[in-house]
Parts: sequence; C-alpha cells; structure tokens
Amino acid sequence: MKISQRIAHSRPLATTAMHGRVESMRHAGEEVIDFSIAISHFPAPAAVLDAVGAAVENVRTMPYTSVVGAFDVRERLCDKLARENGIDAGAAEVIVTNGAKQALYEALYAMSDPGDSVLIFKPHWPAYVATCQLLGLRPVLADLPEEVTPAFLAACEPARIVIINNPHNPTGKVYSRAELEAIRDWVQATGAQVIVDESYEHLSFGPAHTSFASLCDWRALGVVTIFSASQSYAMMGWRVGFALAPAPLVAAMQTLQGPITAAASHLSQVATAAAFNAGVQRHMLDDYRERRDMVVRRFADVPWIVMHSPDSGPYLWGDVRALTHDTVAFAEALIEEEKVAVMPGDALGVRGFIRIGYISDDVATLREGVRRVIAFGDRRAALQ
Ligand code: PLP
Repeated sequence: MKISQRIAHSRPLATTAMHGRVESMRHAGEEVIDFSIAISHFPAPAAVLDAVGAAVENVRTMPYTSVVGAFDVRERLCDKLARENGIDAGAAEVIVTNGAKQALYEALYAMSDPGDSVLIFKPHWPAYVATCQLLGLRPVLADLPEEVTPAFLAACEPARIVIINNPHNPTGKVYSRAELEAIRDWVQATGAQVIVDESYEHLSFGPAHTSFASLCDWRALGVVTIFSASQSYAMMGWRVGFALAPAPLVAAMQTLQGPITAAASHLSQVATAAAFNAGVQRHMLDDYRERRDMVVRRFADVPWIVMHSPDSGPYLWGDVRALTHDTVAFAEALIEEEKVAVMPGDALGVRGFIRIGYISDDVATLREGVRRVIAFGDRRAALQ
C-alpha cells in the first residue's frame, strides 16, 4: 500500500495527538486529568444554542450554500468586523470555514508556492508549522520577544509570509498598537504578506485587542485575518471560523475549499452568525481569570517553575528549565506517574517549558491536577 512521500514525512499535530492519547487512556478506564489542550467547560453562548435549535425546529431544509458561506451569514460577519474590529469589509471578502485550521491551510495554500518561506514566532501554535510542512513551505522560526520593535523586525530573516498570532497562544501576549504599527511598516517595506490569527480576540483579561487589519490597507497588503469561535465563544467542537481577505484571495481559497468540504455545514453557518454576534462572554472571562489566578498562586512558591500570569487566553506557559530542558520526557513521565497530561514546549518550538490548559473540567479537578504536577516536579527536583 502506497502512502505518499508528502504525508509520510508529516506527523499528526502534537496537540491533537496528546488529546487523542488521553481519550484512549480514559477509554481504557484510566482517570487522566487533561491540561494538554484547552477545552472550555462552558457551553456555547445561549444565542448560538437557540439559533441552531430554531433552525432545526423551523427551517428543517438545509441546502448547500455557496462554498464561501451563505450571503446573509457573510454580511453579518461584516457587521461584526465593523462593530468590533474597526474593519470595513464586504461579503466578497469573507469566507466561512470549518474552524481556523481550515482557514489557515487555505490561506497559506492560496498565498504561496512550494519552497516559500514563512516567518513564525515561537513558541507557536503547532498548526502553523504543521501546515507549512504539508504544503512544502519553509518555516522560519524566530523567538517572540517581549516587545516587537522595529529593530527586532529588521533583524528577522526576510520571508514571503509572516504569521502573527494576536492574542498569542501560549504566552497570552496581546500585541500593542505600537507593535502592530511596527509590523505594518516592516511588511510595507519588505513586501511580506501577513496572516493574522485573531482566534483569541475575546479572551483578553485587560489589554485592548487591536486588529492588525484596522491599522493598515489590508487589501493592498494582501492581509488575511483569521477568526474562530473555538476559544472566544467556547465552541471547540462546532468547527466554526472565518477569514477576511482581499476578494481575489477569498476566490482562490474558495477554489480550494470547494472540492474538499464545499461550504461549512449549514448548521455551523447558523452557529457562526449567532456566535460572532454574541460579543465578549464576560461570565466566561471572569471564571477563567479566577482559575488563572488560583493556579498562578499555587505555583508561586514552587522553586523549579516560573509561571507568569498571562494577559489573555486559556493557557499557562511555565518555565521549567531549572528542572529540565527535556519537556517531552517530563510530560511522558508526568502522564505515566501522575495521570496528568500537559503539552511539552517542544511541540510549540521551545524546549524547557510546559503549557497548561486550565479551562477544562471543574475547579476541584484543576486543583488536583496542579497538586499532582507540583508533587511530580518536587520529586524530580529532590533527585537533582
Ligand atoms: N488559533 C490558535 C492560535 C489556536 O490556539 C486555536 C486553538 O483553539 C485556534 C486558532 C482555533 O482553531 P480552530 O478554529 O480550528 O478550532
């Protein structure tokens, strides 16, 4: 049986692979606490559940829509972009996708040719590098600094495309307006095209999130902005997202999407329109903030980990270099000995760090998982 060279050289995403492993262990009767990804314990916003319920009850027929999504759904997304992001766009500049991942793949496919370079700041969401690899692109990795300055950008290796993740998984960094302006000036000067992933736009605990496209002539620069309902509206399994891009790029993405999935499912499109109209989920954010503070407090006196309090997002990014740089081995031993899954920093391009998703399950489980991580690390530290 032939497996193509293309796919034989690729690997499943580390994040989904770890989650899959947790599911198998649970299926085998083991009780595992899963911090490896962030699956919210909240349901989708009530407006989404109501809209989908009403569509099933009352509409019943669910025809194909155009590949880019139903016109009225795209118009409502344009309203959202004007209202929340300060971006003026038309329906021909929006494509509804099965989550951010599909938008990312299609954008990279449409914007590049094999061998093109893609600048990615690390730590990075694993899908950025994995998608480049699938498409035969050349990821160029650079360490994400605390502050992105013109001097930092000038020192970066030039690339055809740069991917910005704002707010950022896993550090929680929310780019300031000045940083985004520096990136804008730099891409104007270098001719690089930009993909901005704003999937965490509503998960900031303080700093204001600014859309890159609101600060530049995104049509002229060929900027693609990606949105997802997964994290901002706790809708991971719904597979709901969309991209904003200049019309020719949307047309190219449509050409790719058509033969693969055609449009996103009709019910997902109903959910898309309702979700992106739902605004910041304050109750969810308040809950996440309390959890974040509780976990950060618990780690504060632990000598082998440095855990900063993130400005946004569902993750904590812990520096365990005082204990080990081999965080794959750390994560393996942790799941074996304590039945707790974390994401090794290696999967996000940086060794010596672990990522903890803290928004799943109940608070008692979160506390217990943190207790086990600390007990595990303490044992290792005692052996050194
Ligand atoms: N972008 C980043 C950086 C992420 O970490 C995630 C994970 O939830 C997403 C996007 C969402 O992807 P999707 O919409 O495919 O669930």
